[in-house]
Parts: sequence; C-alpha cells; structure tokens
Amino acid sequence: MGPLRADLLKKELAIFTFKDLLHHFPLRHIDKTRVDPIRLARTTVDYIQVAGTLTHIQTLGEGRAKRMIATLRDHSDEIELVWFQGIHWIQKQLVPGKAYLVFGKPSIFNGKLQISHPELEEYIPAERPVRSHLEPIYPSTEKLKAKAMNGRQLGKFTRQLLDALKPPDLPENLPENLRQQYHFPGRFDAYQSIHFPASEAAYQQALERLKFEELFFTQVRLSLVRLERNRYSKGLVFAQVGELFNSFYKNHLPFSLTDAQKRVLKEIRHDMGKGSQMNRLLQGDVGSGKTMVALLTMLLAADNGYQACLMAPTEILAQQHFNSISGLLKDMPIQVELLTGSVKAAKRKPMLARLASGETQLLIGTHALLEDKVVFHRLGLAVIDEQHRFGVAQRARLWKKAAIPPHILVMTATPIPRTLAMTAYGDLDYSVIDELPPGRLPVQTVHRYDDARANVMDFIKAEIQKGRQAYIIFPLIEESEKLDLENLMRGYENVKAFFPEPKYWISMVHGRQTPDIKETNMQRFVAHDTQIMVATTVIEVGVNVPNATVMVIESAEKFGLSQLHQLRGRVGRGGEKSFCILLTGPQLNREARERLKTMVSTNDGFVIAEKDLALRGPGDIEGTRQSGDLALKLANLVTDRKWVEIAGQLAAQLVEKDPELKQPAHQSIRAFLLSQQGKLAWSRIS
Ligand code: ADP
Ligand code: MG
Repeated sequence: MGPLRADLLKKELAIFTFKDLLHHFPLRHIDKTRVDPIRLARTTVDYIQVAGTLTHIQTLGEGRAKRMIATLRDHSDEIELVWFQGIHWIQKQLVPGKAYLVFGKPSIFNGKLQISHPELEEYIPAERPVRSHLEPIYPSTEKLKAKAMNGRQLGKFTRQLLDALKPPDLPENLPENLRQQYHFPGRFDAYQSIHFPASEAAYQQALERLKFEELFFTQVRLSLVRLERNRYSKGLVFAQVGELFNSFYKNHLPFSLTDAQKRVLKEIRHDMGKGSQMNRLLQGDVGSGKTMVALLTMLLAADNGYQACLMAPTEILAQQHFNSISGLLKDMPIQVELLTGSVKAAKRKPMLARLASGETQLLIGTHALLEDKVVFHRLGLAVIDEQHRFGVAQRARLWKKAAIPPHILVMTATPIPRTLAMTAYGDLDYSVIDELPPGRLPVQTVHRYDDARANVMDFIKAEIQKGRQAYIIFPLIEESEKLDLENLMRGYENVKAFFPEPKYWISMVHGRQTPDIKETNMQRFVAHDTQIMVATTVIEVGVNVPNATVMVIESAEKFGLSQLHQLRGRVGRGGEKSFCILLTGPQLNREARERLKTMVSTNDGFVIAEKDLALRGPGDIEGTRQSGDLALKLANLVTDRKWVEIAGQLAAQLVEKDPELKQPAHQSIRAFLLSQQGKLAWSRIS
C-alpha cells in the first residue's frame, strides 16, 4: 500500500508491521459461500445470500419517500429488494427475467420479505462460482473509512498478506500431542482461518486455538519468571515446626481451622521450607480468617529463630491486629509489640532497641515499620495486610531490612477472580481461602430508595433496642474534600435528628480528622459507648466490631462493587443476623442497577468479583493496573475461563517438567518464546 494509507493504519489502528496486521482480527464474517433458498430468510438469519430471477421492478413515491422495489423469486419464495438511494444508477443494471445473486440483511416488512440496499450481481452459476471463504469485517475508524479502508476493505490487505505467507513464516509453536488433544488446527492454518475461514466451524476452531496460544504463552512466561526467582534467589529455610507453633495450635487456638485455612498453611509451609524466598499472595473474602493464617505463619518464623512483622494500612487496623494477636498470645513466651506513627519518641527508642536486639519477635504496625530507623535483628517474614494500599516500591523496602530477603506474604480481601489473579499476579504464588468459618449467618442485603429513609432509621432503632450497633456510610466523591465533608456533616445532622442524645450516641470518623481523634471515635464505637458510626469509607478496610449488625450505605449507586462488598463485610461478624441496606436516589443507570442487583443477590465475593470484572473489564480491577502483561487480544478472562485454566495448568506442568525447555517435544515452544522480542529476558533458556 502507499505511504499515505500506511501512515493512516499506524495512526488509527497502531498497525506498523505485518504481524500487527495479522493480529488485527475480524469483528465478524459474512457468509457468501452458500446460496440459500429465499424461504430461509423467514427464519432468524443475520445475512443471507440468495439467487433467483428478477420478476419485476417498480418505482414508488416522490421526493424523499421515493424508492425502487424489485422482486426476486426462486423455487422456494420471493423477496423484495428495496433501494432508497442511487435508484437511477441501479435501475440501469436490472433487467427483469435475468438471474441475480443477492446478498444482504433480510427483514420482514408488512409481512413481506425484503432486503434494502442489497449487494447484487448477475448470476451465471457456471462462470462465477460462489465464494469459497467467509468474508471478514474488521474494526475500522471514521478516518480510515473516508479513505476507502472500511471494515471490509481492510480485508484486501490481509488477503494479500496471507497469500504471500508460507507455512514456515508462521511455524508451529504448540507440541503435537497438545494440538491433537484439543483438536487445534496448525498455526499457519489457524491464521488463514481466523481471517478467511472456509466455514463457521473452521473459524471457531482457529479462534479457540489462537486464544489458547495467547493464554498459554502468557502463562508459560509468568511461570518461568516465578521459577527463575524461586531457583536463583536465595531464601531462608524455615524447616521446622517448633514449640511455639505447636503449643499455640494445641492450647490456644480458639476454634478449629477451616479446611481452606489448613490448606493455605500447608502451601505456605512448603514454600518457606524449600530454600527460596516466598512471595505469596493470600486472597480470602472478608471474614475468611486470614489473620489467623498470618499469625500461625509468624509463629513458624519465630520457631525458626527469626523475627516477623505484620504491616497494616491504617492505625486503626494495626491497633486491632495488635489487640487480637497479643490477646491470643498472652500466655505464650513470645514478645509482641505495636509500632505506629503515633508512638511517642520516649516509648519508641527502647522499643526500637528491643527490636534490634531480637528481643521483640513479632512486630505489628503501619508503614512506620518501613522507616530506616526500624532495624530488625533477624527479619525472616513480612506479612502485608490489604496489599492494595501498599505499593511495590514499599514492599521492596522491606526486603532491604535483612541480608537475605524475608519471606513475603501479601494478604488481600479485594476479590479478584482466580483466573485473573493467576494472570495479573503471575509473579506471585497464589493461595486462596475460599471458605468462610462455619456458623456465619449470611448478611441480608436490600436496596431502598431515599424516600424510605425514615423506615430504615426505624429499623436501626429496633436493632439498637436489641443491643446492636449500626454503621451509616457516606461516599467520597473525591473532586472536593470540602464538599465531601459538607455532605458528611449534613448526613450526620440528619442522622442525629433521628437519634437524639442522650438516648443515642454517635461516632463520626472521616479522613480529615487527626489520627488521635479518629482513633478515639473508633474506640468509642468498638467499646460500645456509641451505637452508631457515621463514616466515610475510611472504615472500609478491616475493622472488626462483631456486635454491629446494620450497615447502611448512603448513595450506594456511587460505590463500586468491590467497595460495597468490603463495606458489607463489616457486619455479619458475630452470632447475630445482620443486614446491609443500600440507599439510593430514584435515578439509576443500567450499571448501577446491575451492581445493586448483584449485591442483593449474592454474598459471595468471588461471584461479585466476576461480575465486577464483566462490568468494568480487567483493566480497572484494583491492583492489576500496572500489569502490562495482560495484553490479550483474543482471549477474554471471563468468558474464556475454561481455556485460562487449562492453559495455566499446562504451562505450570511444562515448566515444572522441563524448566529449560530442553526436551525435543518442547522445541517449538522454546523457539517461539525466543522469537518474541521485548517481552521478558530469557537468559535462562537462551
Ligand atoms: P479477614 O480474612 O477478613 O481478615 P479475620 O481474620 O479478621 O478475617 O477473621 C474474621 C473473624 O473470623 C475473626 O473474628 C476470627 O477470629 C474469626 N475466625 C477466623 N478463622 C476462624 C475459624 N476457623 N473458625 C471460626 N472463626 C474464625
Ligand atoms: Mg483482615
């Protein structure tokens, strides 16, 4: 093509190379390989190609209403062909009595079959066979269309390219047995068929193969990175389960672990015992009991003579972790301390000294732990709670606190579908607690419009009457802190009008308060001095007040699904039945309605995560934004889950069996990886 068009392709579709063009896949195909009986147009077909004799032509109407109608008949039925434009020109080509091949989108108008503005050519079966391939339609843009490169015209370039390619140009990259097992066409054929398939079935097979290929190589790459890190980075060996772990497990564990907790602990123990650094993501829905897993893991570190730290994103949460963990360990010979930004210098100095001498074995805190002055004697494990608040760079600062990098366990309740996590966090190993402790009553969720607020407040009153507590959450709209605060204050006054002192007491917590005030207000609610907590989303992460049974979310339509789910997770933590009430204005767009419907219909964080993913797309899922490796063109992590999983398993098996990709059967994979430039460095296999 000429330089002007080439330039437009670069600018409009980022097509720079033959490979880019080859990977500009069709949106859909039109089928002109068959000539169908006209009668078939009465069924639900999108497009149809028919052949028949033109019986008559008439022109109707005047001016704008002017149209030409020709009637085409075959052995089965007849169909009207209608033109509103270019009538004069088309009329000249149509001769009644002659046969025509017609292609278009049929509809039924006044009970009659018709196609408006069909494609049409004279039909001489012997001379002009129908097409042997489906015709591709590509994504295009207005600017390209203006230069005669619409979705169909782009196919000419692809056709030319494919005609010029020979099988060695697109060498097979999947092992033979794998291709046979899944009935995948060869790679060269797959590229031919995804663009110009001989049939719908051929297209589907090509599509599946290329999707699989995409997912498989993404996962092989990630597995190799993980493997390389595991094999070549030194790590502390926590070989023994010792006295602390065992006696805690036997004598102080307040409940028996769920099967999921046990499984995850096993995974972690295996990981910390094999001599390379652990980098593990632990995902578990709100309330699934991640803290206990963290605690047991920290005891393992202590048993092996190392210190451990647990870092939380907020003071409130760090304080809570400290309270519950030091409570659980109070009869055990182990030193636990809390370090946050608000620990005063007088206390801090000796505390740091105890840490540096190794006297303190477990340190719980906020990002104050990262400061250079915080020096460990022998740090062996860092647990990071609610990872999305911590950046990668901050994590790296932890590594530097020990000669050999400590094991890292990152915990998150932000539900990410497993399929996505496997790909997005591919460089971390992944454990999931997919089971809640027994006996939890599911939170009942309802959606109410603003005009029902008085009823909602009465409901809260009834719960408070029974001795329970309630949260009322207001959204942050971010553009203006001042407006947010005003909004919250108005809400607070409003709540106060329903719940006057001294019968009722209200805590208010928001982001503009100093940590002291926040903490005090929080603690009053925890201690049940107040019955109602009015807050912005600062309480989103982690607070644990089992006596709270009502969560009211104001302007719930303004929250994302995962945030709503997190907020709801604050209730339903005790033995009492809990409720989540989503209040909204009367006007809701479709997506907001979908979100509310999802919240009302399920408590399952993973289902919600899937829905979130479907509504927003993977690019928006929290924590995955930096992950540029998710550049999938064909495969979809939601709808192609089956292939995501199969590809993940096969990639893991491959890398485990043949990490250097030396076996003859894997040469095609190796060659392909090496041919992919700029992806990742392949020092180990090259
Ligand atoms: P999250 O995973 O959201 O951090 P937590 O660790 O805070 O959850 O646990 C939520 C609650 O469940 C806590 O009160 C904890 O004591 C309790 N819990 C954890 N594991 C179990 C279990 N196996 N059986 C019963 N209760 C448990
Ligand atoms: Mg937690």
